[in-house]
Amino acid sequence: MPDDVRVRISRVCVSALLAFVAGACGGDGGALEAESRLVIKLSSSRSATSLRMRADSPHFSASAACAAAPIIASLTLPACQGADTISDQEIDKASGMANEATLSRRIDDLAADSMLGRGPGQRGDTLTVAYLEREMARIGLSPASKNGFRQPVTLFRTRATGRASFRANGLTVALDTAAIVLAATAPGDFSTLDAPVVLVGFGIIAPEHDWDDYRHIDLRGKVALILDGEPGSVSRKRFGTRGYTSPHGNVILKARHALARGAAAVIFIRLGSDAVHRARRLRLQDQELTGDVPEITPESPITLHLASSAGELLAQAAGTTLSAWRVAANDASTGPRELPLRLDASIHTEARRFVSHNLVGVIRGSDPALRNECVVYLAHWDAYGIGPAVRGDSIYNGALDDAAGVSEMLHIAEVVRALPRAPRRTMVFVATTAEERGMRGAEAYAARPVCPLPRTALAIGMDWSWTWGLTDTLVSNGIGYSTVDSLAARVATRLGKTFAPGLGEYWLLSDHAALALRGVPAWFGGLDGEVTGKPKGWALRQLALTRTHGPDDDRKPTWDLSGAVFEVKFLAELGIRAAESATRPVWTVESEFKRASEAARGEATPPIRRRQDRRAWGRVHGFPPSMARSNDPTWRPHQCTWARDSRRCRTVSRVTLRDLDDISVHQLRNAGGRVLQGAAPRPERRAR
Ligand SMILES: [Zn+2]
Repeated sequence: MPDDVRVRISRVCVSALLAFVAGACGGDGGALEAESRLVIKLSSSRSATSLRMRADSPHFSASAACAAAPIIASLTLPACQGADTISDQEIDKASGMANEATLSRRIDDLAADSMLGRGPGQRGDTLTVAYLEREMARIGLSPASKNGFRQPVTLFRTRATGRASFRANGLTVALDTAAIVLAATAPGDFSTLDAPVVLVGFGIIAPEHDWDDYRHIDLRGKVALILDGEPGSVSRKRFGTRGYTSPHGNVILKARHALARGAAAVIFIRLGSDAVHRARRLRLQDQELTGDVPEITPESPITLHLASSAGELLAQAAGTTLSAWRVAANDASTGPRELPLRLDASIHTEARRFVSHNLVGVIRGSDPALRNECVVYLAHWDAYGIGPAVRGDSIYNGALDDAAGVSEMLHIAEVVRALPRAPRRTMVFVATTAEERGMRGAEAYAARPVCPLPRTALAIGMDWSWTWGLTDTLVSNGIGYSTVDSLAARVATRLGKTFAPGLGEYWLLSDHAALALRGVPAWFGGLDGEVTGKPKGWALRQLALTRTHGPDDDRKPTWDLSGAVFEVKFLAELGIRAAESATRPVWTVESEFKRASEAARGEATPPIRRRQDRRAWGRVHGFPPSMARSNDPTWRPHQCTWARDSRRCRTVSRVTLRDLDDISVHQLRNAGGRVLQGAAPRPERRAR
């Protein structure tokens, strides 16, 4: 807490102040002792009275505070007439305007066939951006920049071709090519020859669970083989002990860990059906959209996704079974293991550059001291546009995913506008592009935010909405990671809901993750549980039957938007309270979110074991201390300025050059136009 605690008096603060003093009187003097000086500033609309107490002065004691309580109370009550904290009643009054008709109209508009599925770079892009611009202006949001609501986002439409084969003891492992997805990456050619394959279990680093699948391993010139899921998802013993899964199963996060250790390629053995795997091929290999320079390569230069059937064959070629690998991966004592397998792979990615837009609208904060801090809402306007026809329909409307979320977000902006005054901190509403293609719009926002990320108090992600009616429960998918939960629990309880953990594997699956991984405390959650008036388990069945990402994600006549209206009220209040509060949410458990937050704020971090390990690793392998220290999960091995034809890396920034290790310098030389020959077991990049 800061030295000065200024309690601005309002109806709300009377009870808070009395509770505070009562707490001190009750013998819990910790709060008072923790302060070197306590200033309670009492203000009314016309006059202000300050009562200063020095905790370290002989005149101050808890008993003095108790004696002063009636005086303070008598001073505060009249002062409260000029209330200047947004009260519960004022929030209720404003959110009372939330209604199904408004949500419904915008969902219908955005998901209409005339919007052509809102595909970035397609005609639907232009139509959607124009629509959102009009709506944001109509709501009374201010444009985020002098150029208006539009924030340009450079994207690439990519297509990958290539091949990958494995050898065990010199013999080729026969795998069905349909079972291997080669993920498109940066434009150009990459190859790796005769690279040894290292099994790193689930590929997870989770300091809060004291879990590290990598240990000290140097993966340069090697291939990281990673299993889908997380320990608890198999044994229900470890990460699952609290009854839910964690964010650590996220493949982007896993790829980053492998990449940070120098892996030449990353292979995932994926769970899921063949149909899911076919969809993965369509998205990752055949029509990936990838984004903003210079961060075009979020994953390893060579990333393969294997169907579990191919994973099984690979395990057999290595003399074991896939389930044995999974069992071993569940054991914390299993370290990385080099397998008797070698990978040959080459990949060629073509890319076409285009510009799409985020729409960014702002409600400027009312407090001169706090308005340069922000609360940010994010919902993605993009869907899959026009795609292959399914039963005669080629428009991928994205009604639930995420016309519904954008509609909720715009409605929240209206609720905030209906308050008697703007919240203290600035509220930012970002309708992002290309979330479906790896949060590209959110990444672009994170690179050019309205207020710097260390001054962003909270990011609220909104993807899908609850279209099955009112329930009794509200869930947090990232539960346990930050104090956002306690704020959310208070709001949920006030609004009559049970607060519960959600599914951790969803936690990083939408735009807020781009900010969370850079240290911004984030919220992602919503209604869940049993629907009032329906049989037990009904909502869960509806959820299981729900399909998105295809032409059948239309607006359904059966939707009941009463739950979505509730989510508008809840998320509006969550944001308003975060924007009003004297304190900001913080990451609590030791996690990469917390580390990113500390790094972003330039705070000294108490030394912990993993961090020391990372430094040692940096030293041993010649990484500059700045990089070993930075712990930056967004670090990329190559950062390019793209040539005009966007086919090759033209220059690499000086900063990057200084920070690169020798493998990347090798790539850099290639990027400069000189093709290095040889069968080096490492990715190669040739200028084109
Ligand atoms: Zn979505």
